[in-house]
Amino acid sequence: MTVYKTQTVGYPHIGRERELKRVLEGYWKGALDAETLMATFRQVEEAGWLTQRDAGIDYIGVGDATLYDAVLDWTLRLGLIPERFAALKGLERLFAMARGVEGIPALEMTKWFDTNYHYLVPEIATDTQPVADFAGFLDTVARAQALLGERAVPIVLGPMTFLRLARLEVSFDVMLQQLLPLYTELFAALKALGVPEVQLHEPALILPDSGIPDSRIPDSGDFRSQTEMALAALASVGLPINLVIPFDDAGESFPWIVALPVAGLTLDFTRGETITLLERCGWPVGKVLAAGMVDGRNVWRLHGAEVLPQLRSLNSLASLRLSVSCSLQHVPYSAARETALPAPLRGVLAFAEEKLHELIALRDTLAGAAVWDDSPWADFRAFTPEDAALRARLGSLAAGDFSRTEGYAGRRPQQVALPAFPLTTIGSFPQTAAVRQLRARFKRGELSEAAYRAGVDAWIAYTIGVQESLDFDVLVHGEFERSDMVEYFAEKLTGFAFTQHGWVQSFGSRYVRPPIIYADVTRPVPMTVREFQVAQSFTHKPVKGMLTGPVTILNWSFPRADLPRREVAFQLALALRDEIADLERAGARIIQVDEPALREGLPFKADRRAAYLTWAVDAFRLATAGAASATQIHTHMCYAEFGDVLPAIDRLDADVISLENARSDDETLRALAEYGYAREVGPGVYDIHSPVIPDKDFILEKLRTFRLHLADVQLWVNPDCGLKTRAWEEVLPALRVMVAAVQELRAEL
Ligand code: GLN
Ligand code: ZN
Repeated sequence: MTVYKTQTVGYPHIGRERELKRVLEGYWKGALDAETLMATFRQVEEAGWLTQRDAGIDYIGVGDATLYDAVLDWTLRLGLIPERFAALKGLERLFAMARGVEGIPALEMTKWFDTNYHYLVPEIATDTQPVADFAGFLDTVARAQALLGERAVPIVLGPMTFLRLARLEVSFDVMLQQLLPLYTELFAALKALGVPEVQLHEPALILPDSGIPDSRIPDSGDFRSQTEMALAALASVGLPINLVIPFDDAGESFPWIVALPVAGLTLDFTRGETITLLERCGWPVGKVLAAGMVDGRNVWRLHGAEVLPQLRSLNSLASLRLSVSCSLQHVPYSAARETALPAPLRGVLAFAEEKLHELIALRDTLAGAAVWDDSPWADFRAFTPEDAALRARLGSLAAGDFSRTEGYAGRRPQQVALPAFPLTTIGSFPQTAAVRQLRARFKRGELSEAAYRAGVDAWIAYTIGVQESLDFDVLVHGEFERSDMVEYFAEKLTGFAFTQHGWVQSFGSRYVRPPIIYADVTRPVPMTVREFQVAQSFTHKPVKGMLTGPVTILNWSFPRADLPRREVAFQLALALRDEIADLERAGARIIQVDEPALREGLPFKADRRAAYLTWAVDAFRLATAGAASATQIHTHMCYAEFGDVLPAIDRLDADVISLENARSDDETLRALAEYGYAREVGPGVYDIHSPVIPDKDFILEKLRTFRLHLADVQLWVNPDCGLKTRAWEEVLPALRVMVAAVQELRAEL
């Protein structure tokens, strides 16, 4: 029996106790120094290495831990510093690029493939000259070697992915030619350190060569020949390359990708059709196949009955190694800590640490030294029966359930009348320490429900007062009762479980704790009606009912693995549909259903995209189509470019859509105009992710640009996203400026 080697390709690096968040935020506030920050960062990184070593992993990916974002780290290592940050140095520069500083906007931030992680988009202008600075990285690798010896394998973000994700003003080809000498220099240095191989992470190789229109690439040339040329250059160094391609199968590129001059490839077997491609196209003799069978994206225990036969069949095809499908940074540290969860559920959970043990257990089972145990799954199924009434309701849905009674033109005159350029916000107001403490004390049982509600209501009253005094047109209650826009709803619905320590990084120091959907979803009680009513009782202006959409709840949760995502989305949609009916009964005239995560669930391959968009949009329509014509349905989207999904956005049939825009130039607006989008749009007028407060001219300039693309009657004015991450000291002046700009514009007309 063969004893296979095991490998990882990245590990959580936020700290089991979220140590990194604490020191980062302390450092930004000036409460602690760079040494403390770096010491904690290294402790967290090293703890991750040791966990992997102690689990018995043979090849441990290192160098992926980051203070803010790994793509930003490579931007810095390759010395591709946009001009506006040139005068800054060290940590100051790093955090300026990540978060912006007075007068210097941050890099754009966007989704990392279809994960809920956000990276900072490299910006490469015509006159940028890359200048390598690998000292810090090499230092990390050397530190890892001291602890892990031969097991330490450096993780390098490959040039094809780096450039494909960058915003390029120069041609891809020219830039690649400039980067390759830097990469070969790095590989030579790594070889000199004596590492057994290098992991070259190239997730961009899953992207179809032409399938995704990518406005960022002025001249992408021929991706295949560029990749072949790049890999030939890198291979010439003589350091074995493990080409790591997570998140999907390699599709039609599979044959030439596996023929690249590398020692081995790590492929994702948890998504797409990798196994079929492999059987159909074969595997090159002598190349290692690190089979990513342990899913780095979900939290579920592996089904041995499914995976072991696959691995046994691969054994005859290729020289195998056992791997996770992608970096484990997308799952929390340890399911064993979640002692508050019911045992049958905990028995089928596997987070990062459990996944390490799964690799070892797979190895031992295949070697005949252990027997895989799938029995926890049987216990789990007995614990989670189906909801018969819900299944019946889903089974009887008809086409009419997915369409509003009238089209937009018929609905609009029946909806609220508002001044030109209506002023609104996206929903949340500052989640201050006081607000968080209020919720925490209630959760711990230190506050009665009445006292807690009085506390929340006071914040609602204050926030309504602020919006009234600023002269906003459509008000929000501020979302003070919500720790998170998904968790809040998940807590009110059935079928969700919550972890105590299950944090994963969303971006920078922002971590989320996605709920786990493990059973049928129903809505036992109204979820948002009380807070809406309280807010509306303080004002005559319309208050928006505020809901998180079905697709976003799904995409930002860890979904159950035994039902198609479409089914779960429809279950969520029905719950929201009932909530909208309750909000209408309570007097809501405007209801916003946020879908910031709609775009990110999009599959990479063209043939799977259409199917996703169909059910995702259907889920939104199922949630909202029951609304009366007089009810104005809003939606909000962020963190992505929308140019390629406009038909889907249109088919949402929302009356008003607010879009993140400030950090993505005006691409989205241009696309909307070209598309001929006819309903109302609120493109964000300033970036709420940055602490920089805009001035009036900046906002007026934005509004003038919007008017070039869209008709005045279509335009709403709002920030980019919710204000929960900001302080009142930032929000008040920013909103004041926003209102002043609109008043000036209205006066001009
Ligand atoms: N209504 C939410 C808020 O304002 C929307 C957040 C989001 O788009 N991510 O916080
Ligand atoms: Zn948003």
